[in-house]
Amino acid sequence: MFKKVLIANRGEIALRVIRACRELGVQTVAVYSEADRESLHVRFADDDVCIGPPPARDSYLKIPRIIAAAEITGADAIHPGYGFLAENAEFAETCLASNITFIGPTAEQIRVMGDKASARKAMAAVGVPIVPGSPGPVEDPDEALGFAREIGFPVIIKAAAGGGGKGMRVAKDADDFARSFQLARSEALSAFGNGDVYVEKYLTRPRHVEFQILGDQHGKVIHLGERDCSVQRRHQKLIEEAPSPAMTPELRERMGNDAVRGAQAINYVGAGTIEMLLDEDGQYYFMEMNTRIQVEHPVTEMLTGVDLVKEQIRVAAGEPLTVTSLPPLRGHVIECRINAENPARNFQPSPGHIHTFHPPGGPGVRVDTHAYAGYTVPPYYDSLLAKLIVQGRDRQEALRRMQIALESFIIEGVTTTAPFLARVMDNPRFQSGDIDTKFLERESDLMTEPV
Ligand code: ADP
Repeated sequence: MFKKVLIANRGEIALRVIRACRELGVQTVAVYSEADRESLHVRFADDDVCIGPPPARDSYLKIPRIIAAAEITGADAIHPGYGFLAENAEFAETCLASNITFIGPTAEQIRVMGDKASARKAMAAVGVPIVPGSPGPVEDPDEALGFAREIGFPVIIKAAAGGGGKGMRVAKDADDFARSFQLARSEALSAFGNGDVYVEKYLTRPRHVEFQILGDQHGKVIHLGERDCSVQRRHQKLIEEAPSPAMTPELRERMGNDAVRGAQAINYVGAGTIEMLLDEDGQYYFMEMNTRIQVEHPVTEMLTGVDLVKEQIRVAAGEPLTVTSLPPLRGHVIECRINAENPARNFQPSPGHIHTFHPPGGPGVRVDTHAYAGYTVPPYYDSLLAKLIVQGRDRQEALRRMQIALESFIIEGVTTTAPFLARVMDNPRFQSGDIDTKFLERESDLMTEPV
């Protein structure tokens, strides 16, 4: 096992990794920007190093500073969390070259899956269904239009290097296409430094259903069931739950086997997620693989009882997985992302000083947060304040429990999405499980406080 793990991240995920390390008897190093001096991850780590000024590009994204921090403190491994450098192949390579274990997959695995076009190829090669689309990136607008006509409109033009819901454009017909194609290419180039785009069928009412994968260095790859992340805004997840209301044991088996086959095709090691779209007619398609721990991992932890972060660390140290098949699922789990944002103002970020903070509790309630009374939410990073995860015997109990927990979560000083999320729990359509990725567009009244 490692002696000391540096966590190249901040916020709730840094705390989550510190907890896992402590349980494993491993020392920890926090890195922080000048804006995060008062953060809990700095307080709870055994060692800490300031790595620069507030903007992430000058601190959390500076590879040489993070490697230097690991060397100075004698860390023998680095956990990247999610976001920042978690899916940066160059970072994984630099760790390796510096004799520091990167807690995650290899640089090669990150590269294959980080490019959506090459990921599609790798999946199709082992028979995992992919969304119908162009076989690879397309440069020529006429050729691209040809593919779009073949597939049938609407289509979505996607940046091969895209992520975080960015770099996607929908075209509803041929007239729309030429403009969208050029826009997508130039957006991709400026946002990701890579103008490659490809075209795929745009599904009109899909669910986002993803499978949690774990692989070890001894060739074992398993899945730990699905998460339904269909409640989204601008292609970004707000609520995740498991089991998916659309799932049957038979479908889980088929989708899960395909997800495992896809991960096995690249000899995947560590925690990862195979994201799929599930169509109204029960067809499903591979969309992308995330080669890291995800924000919504606690959903799977509560449902299966497996500590995903400890498994990640053990596997990186060369140990075999402690779980070798899908355990019995324990009821129903829902996660809400509570952000410092104002839903009534188009989810505008609301940084500032929190003067009162009282999280909910009781049976089946888990809160992953770095916030506390007296904490100031800095304006520099994403606005996730807390993840509230609840478990119930069934979906109905979980829904009720979540609504009560949201209503009794007291956060004063900044505007949060908690009241909005409580309204979603109370929405008849959400309650019936009739959700797809367009749910919030149709139920836009939920964004504003009822009068
Ligand atoms: P990112 O890497 O930015 O997260 P994804 O490829 O995972 O992008 O897609 C994010 C979301 O965009 C999906 O959850 C879904 O809501 C929507 N989406 C992506 N591809 C399609 C598609 N072919 N048809 C319909 N919706 C899609």
